[in-house]
Amino acid sequence: MRTVNMTQITAGDGSLVTRVRPLNAFTYSSAAARVVFGPGSLEHLEREIALLGARRALVLCTPEQTGIATAVLQRLGERGAGLFAKAAMHVPIEVAREARAEALRLGADCAVAVGGGSTIGLGKAIALEAPPGALPVLAIPTTYAGSEMTPIYGITEGGIKKTGKDERVLPRTVIYDAQLTLSLPVGLSMTSGLNAIAHSAEGLYARDSNPIMALLAEEGIRALAAALPLVQARPDDIEARSQAQYGAWLCGTVLGNVGMALHHKLCHTLGGSFNLPHAETHAIVLPHALAYNAAAVPQAMAALRRALGCDDPAQALFELGQRLGVPAGLAALGMPAEGIDRAVDIALQNAYWNPRPLEKAALHNLLSRAHAGLAPA
Ligand code: NAD
Repeated sequence: MRTVNMTQITAGDGSLVTRVRPLNAFTYSSAAARVVFGPGSLEHLEREIALLGARRALVLCTPEQTGIATAVLQRLGERGAGLFAKAAMHVPIEVAREARAEALRLGADCAVAVGGGSTIGLGKAIALEAPPGALPVLAIPTTYAGSEMTPIYGITEGGIKKTGKDERVLPRTVIYDAQLTLSLPVGLSMTSGLNAIAHSAEGLYARDSNPIMALLAEEGIRALAAALPLVQARPDDIEARSQAQYGAWLCGTVLGNVGMALHHKLCHTLGGSFNLPHAETHAIVLPHALAYNAAAVPQAMAALRRALGCDDPAQALFELGQRLGVPAGLAALGMPAEGIDRAVDIALQNAYWNPRPLEKAALHNLLSRAHAGLAPA
């Protein structure tokens, strides 16, 4: 079998010779999250809370997901301390403070975050301030954003989102139950899935990547790219939903383990400075960021070609986005055309490492095309 670390070359006599690609030295550390996977796996919640040694779990959700979170609280019985249903995008510090106070008031010893990246982010914000191990997070993700697999947190104060990394915020247990994703609207399912693909795509060329992450990234992209069109056609297809969740898990793991580059920097800039929606912004920018980096990262492009079954990954992801109904461009998300210059300037400040040097004119071109909804250059 050909693996990602094998390459075939043509010998002088025209025959194909398989060579092992040299491995770079790397450091690999495995995060300790326990994963319980499968449709219906929410039934194991009480067991998982008991395994964490918790007795009083505070359930977190957004106001829109109060229904499912209440069902989770009821399932917890005596181990349920209460419900905090005010999670909001980008974790406003006021909400985080209120949730911490509620956890303290109820004597909670665990947070159960039911929802997407916003709710899981709130769980992380609570865990960050608690004494080490005092408030573990059990995450029940209902989108494909992948936050449950990362030690990355973000908190917004005075309109500025500060992010950081701390092992204390990494959820200790994750329950992936695809039943809970059936209600995720088709549009958000598509953009959320492309957001996950972006984690793995950039993970493939991360400076600190390693062969394990490369395997996870390629498999995560393959699973999501295959599942999303099926979910679009039949949002209640539990097999396709499960496959998408599997891909999201792998892509989230990649995000949590290796550094991100231009694509994530651009999306953070656009989200933070123009208040653009998270998943949609990722879905629009990804093909353009990949086209920008393509020539500098041949191995990553080869992995993307295998995962997507195509010749030109940037173009294929652009076309996939079009088929999946991704908004036509950043303009359609409400970004003003005058903002492009400012976005380029911000992206050049405190720039992340990127395999291709950041060039002002080329970045301007990239964002102009993404703004207008054009194909990647
Ligand atoms: P989200 O959590 O903001 O959810 C979007 C909306 O969808 C909310 O109204 C939510 O209630 C609703 N929703 C979620 N799941 C649903 C379901 N199954 N059925 C019906 N409605 C549902 O969206 P997101 O894209 O998951 O998360 C975005 C946020 O997460 C951003 O702030 C982003 O920065 C953060 N994030 C953080 C990390 C990390 O590693 N720290 C990773 C990815 C995303």
